[in-house]
Amino acid sequence: MGSKQLKEEVYEANMELFRSGLVFGTFGNVSGIDENREVVVIKPSGVNYDELTSEKMVGVALKDGKVVEGTLNPSSDTPTHIEIYRAFESASGVVHTHSEFATAFSQARRPIRCMGTTHADYFYGDIPISRPLTEDETINDYEINTGLVIVETFNAVDSAEIPAVLVANHGPFAWGSTAHKAVENAMTLEYLAKIEYKTEVLNPTVPTPPQYLIDKHYLRKHGKNAYYGQ
Ligand SMILES: [Zn+2]
Repeated sequence: MGSKQLKEEVYEANMELFRSGLVFGTFGNVSGIDENREVVVIKPSGVNYDELTSEKMVGVALKDGKVVEGTLNPSSDTPTHIEIYRAFESASGVVHTHSEFATAFSQARRPIRCMGTTHADYFYGDIPISRPLTEDETINDYEINTGLVIVETFNAVDSAEIPAVLVANHGPFAWGSTAHKAVENAMTLEYLAKIEYKTEVLNPTVPTPPQYLIDKHYLRKHGKNAYYGQ
């Protein structure tokens, strides 16, 4: 994919995220990476959505975060996106929002449990919650450390099977095989947070569903034995 094409795709994905209603204030950004995994294209900092164009997208080098394309500054969350791309091979698009229900779970410092088939159709298990950042991690290189704490959260979790995370006291990040897929995962994540919240209100002691049901729904759509929708 040429860089012009990637800028177009990332621009479209940012507008799609904006239209989805998941962006509160200016808290929303989408990025994408080129197929050689060298340049990350992301929304510029401080530009309103109605003034956004594909030409205003900013390209930064994966290796050092320096701007290599565009004249504007990249989103201030760019270092977090970069750490996600460096660690998660399956991520070619990354989304960050402060969407209402997913952010509520982040603040409650709770995972979004996998309680049913809607969740299992997209994510193979609970959406994990990160540990809180330390004072030092917050004061120095905050955005990089936010990325590193996300990566740490996936030490024992497969980032391809569960392409989203809740950062404690902050909000959700989601990723996917393209910028568009990452937006779709962010939208799904918000919906799952909402229905998990309602599930708990309706029955706070309901048991988790059996693993065979989760396996059935995830594995019929993902992996080598997928058959659903083929
Ligand atoms: Zn944020």
